[in-house]
Amino acid sequence: MEPRLNCEIVQDLLPNYIEGLTSESTNKSIQEHLAGCGECRRTLEQMTRDTHGIKAAPPKQINFMKKIKRRQWLIASVSVAIVAALLIGAYYLFGTRDFPVPASEAKITEVYQTQDGTIHYRVTANIKGFVSRVTTHGNKHTQIYRIYEHRQLFSKEKASMITLPENWLSTKNADTNLEKTGIYFEGINKDDRITIWEKGMTIPTATAEQEEAYQRYLGR
Ligand SMILES: [Zn+2]
Repeated sequence: MEPRLNCEIVQDLLPNYIEGLTSESTNKSIQEHLAGCGECRRTLEQMTRDTHGIKAAPPKQINFMKKIKRRQWLIASVSVAIVAALLIGAYYLFGTRDFPVPASEAKITEVYQTQDGTIHYRVTANIKGFVSRVTTHGNKHTQIYRIYEHRQLFSKEKASMITLPENWLSTKNADTNLEKTGIYFEGINKDDRITIWEKGMTIPTATAEQEEAYQRYLGR
């Protein structure tokens, strides 16, 4: 005959019972007691729930850590984005870059034609920084002249008049038989243009002195 257990002993044994550490005969006694004792059954239920609670806790913690890590990543990414935006903004506002010189700041002088049909012209421009590039890219029939100045967006430098080297453009290419029909100064966009010369335009003929200068240019 198994000894009958009182509540105190049963409740002392319950943790081991839950873990399966108690002997079979003890188990039997506990089960018999539990069958007739509501209080110990509730204690067992409570303990079982707590045990599950503890076992369930780690995943929750992992989720929590994941959330923290995700948040840290988010904060880090947003910080990097903000710093990048600030740097780009600062560069945009205070960095020096190349800007095309607008047509309003350019003046065309010394436009004349030599005896062989070559067009001479010269560009003078109001420059705030310094001239970084001069390009004469056009197509087969046109020459597009552009000046780029290197400066800040809102440069506080005083503009100064710069006279650029003179240009000669042969209107007829003997090798390809291609004819030039226009020379333009282009500023900030295609509509910001000055026509320097177009086929059919009446422009001065080179003086003897200018013709000599042209011959010297060819002889270089
Ligand atoms: Zn009991």
